[in-house]
Amino acid sequence: MTAANASHAATLAELQRAKVTAEAANEAKTRYLVAVSHEIRSPLNVIYGYAQLLERDDTLSGAEVGTIIRRSAEHVTNLVEGLLEISRIESGVLTIRSDLIDIRPLFDHIVDMFRMQAAAKGLALTLEIDDRLPAQVKTDEKRLRQILINLVSNAIKYTQSGSVAVKVGYRSQVADIEVRDTGIGIAAGDLERVFEPFERGNSAEAQSQPGIGLGLAITRVLASVLGGDIAVESTPGVGSSFRFRIMLPAPMVASRAPVQGAR
Ligand code: ADP
Repeated sequence: MTAANASHAATLAELQRAKVTAEAANEAKTRYLVAVSHEIRSPLNVIYGYAQLLERDDTLSGAEVGTIIRRSAEHVTNLVEGLLEISRIESGVLTIRSDLIDIRPLFDHIVDMFRMQAAAKGLALTLEIDDRLPAQVKTDEKRLRQILINLVSNAIKYTQSGSVAVKVGYRSQVADIEVRDTGIGIAAGDLERVFEPFERGNSAEAQSQPGIGLGLAITRVLASVLGGDIAVESTPGVGSSFRFRIMLPAPMVASRAPVQGAR
């Protein structure tokens, strides 16, 4: 093969690869749109169905039907908000802040938020924080809060008995936040998939819980936007452990070196 031929072949191979990648991206986009349409259509069908029933049958309990309609509408709202969040992140519109925050109260608040829900299911909910965690750190408070809320709410949702433990380790400016539960667990084949939009665990127990499969997709993207990473280990029937690692630097303290020669 001449040099010119060789370079032509290389270009063709590159084009072929680019085409395959573009096709795969298009297919993924189509799958995504089908999933979105399906997810939006089902709660809307419920709303239409009950609205039609109300029109025809005035003996129906307005309160009961109202609740069903409101829940379905909430489902659509959550879905649309989740999608907007993902597109804001992907298009880079999302701005990341670097706030100086009191970090311990943030963990306390989040765990407190879920106390009632955990107690209602008879679950022990605990929080343990490494003494080395500085009192104040710099991070995007709203995003960090959102990640933690998603992880703790999932742990409670997918655990029927036992405990949910939040443990915060800290070393060399990196926080290692673990949310461990004794819940239904995730099958090995589902571990990567559950971080994709609209993907949910295949088990009957997972499917029996309400959800749209966007929480972990948003959590993973947010974690990477904050420069962190998230990993999961799980055993079906035993429990799951989600670990979120993120740099949480303490603010620089101004040095207080004595002024030479001053009296
Ligand atoms: P959703 O809970 O709305 O389905 P998520 O994206 O938050 O969406 O989670 C995706 C899937 O991951 C869930 O449907 C569930 O199968 C699985 N999952 C997430 N967290 C847990 C957990 N703590 N224990 C067991 N399964 C979990």
